[in-house]
Amino acid sequence: YNEIPTGYPVPGKTLVYDESQTIDLENEPLNGGILVRVVVLSIDPYLRRKMLDPSIPSFLPAFKVGEPLENSGVATVLRSEHPNYKPGDHVLASFPFSLPFQEYLVIPDPQMRILENKENLSWSAYLGVCGMPGQTAHHAWKEYAGPKIKKGDVVFVTAASGAVGAIVAQLAKADGLKVIASAGSDDKVDYVRSLGVDVAFNYKKVSTREVLQKEGPINFYWDNVGGESLEAALEFAAQKAVFIICGMISSYNTDEPYNVKNLQQLVWREITFNGFLVASLLPKYDDEFYATIPGRVARGEVKYKEHLVKGLENTGQALLDVLSGNNFGKSVIVVSEE
Ligand code: NDP
Repeated sequence: YNEIPTGYPVPGKTLVYDESQTIDLENEPLNGGILVRVVVLSIDPYLRRKMLDPSIPSFLPAFKVGEPLENSGVATVLRSEHPNYKPGDHVLASFPFSLPFQEYLVIPDPQMRILENKENLSWSAYLGVCGMPGQTAHHAWKEYAGPKIKKGDVVFVTAASGAVGAIVAQLAKADGLKVIASAGSDDKVDYVRSLGVDVAFNYKKVSTREVLQKEGPINFYWDNVGGESLEAALEFAAQKAVFIICGMISSYNTDEPYNVKNLQQLVWREITFNGFLVASLLPKYDDEFYATIPGRVARGEVKYKEHLVKGLENTGQALLDVLSGNNFGKSVIVVSEE
């Protein structure tokens, strides 16, 4: 991580690939820990919100310039001096743990989960549908929509081809809702339609307001993007609608907050806004998630799409792609073939 970006991160400038550091795989001291080779690393939109001036108070500590980016990942244990880990184990670093964006590293005090992977999923699935984005969709849908769903309810999901949105759309469909879903290209819309949603549209070609006017009013709104989509959702919300505010990616690359023009609707339509961070919901829903979702994924009952990017050197471009809608599915850096 080379410098704090203004606006969109610039591959090769904000994030640079550095081959100068080496490690002796045979003799590097482990000090009671493990040596791992990283297999896959996750690219998530929130990484941009950690590329801020560290003096600005934020929901998560800012990355330090000059140090590697960090995020969730899966790694293979190569050597171990720790009683709980043996060579060949695959470990998952997910909140509160993370892996630096590098190929090999020693972890002196490993506390990560060993993935048993009984369902024989790809390792990257543990960063997407069976990882943090899947947890986000599952946990927050259960928490904020679950108890309130009534027959005939309608939900609007944005960024619906993405890691979180595609899972929300499927969970909502399984709960019997009418699902309206938006995405930013015709290919993405076709994919979202293949997930079984009722109405899918390309918000870059079709007016969100017109779609919601025709297909709404909406009882639930899953917000991944903020901005104009949020405004349209406010305008066509049913009385006592529930808004699940997961993200606002349309404003992640600017420090100017988007000025939502019709927040007044919160009052007139008695709308509940639920902003959340998935970390807060993990203790309540993780057991249920791991007991059900990997199996449903393995049986093909929950579908997912991945955007696999080979090579650590492409991290900067992969992040820019997620922040500008050029990913199609859960974005993952493939560091090594396990
Ligand atoms: P996605 O896989 O959905 O990728 C991001 C997508 O956002 C892009 O593909 C693009 O889709 C859309 N997008 C990008 N820029 C814009 C823009 N300017 N306006 C509208 N849409 C845009 O990412 P995730 O599923 O990982 O994340 C989705 C959201 O969920 C993000 O806002 C993220 O921050 C949030 N999140 C929140 C968590 C929490 O704890 N609250 C945890 C995890 C994620 P398209 O081409 O369809 O526009």
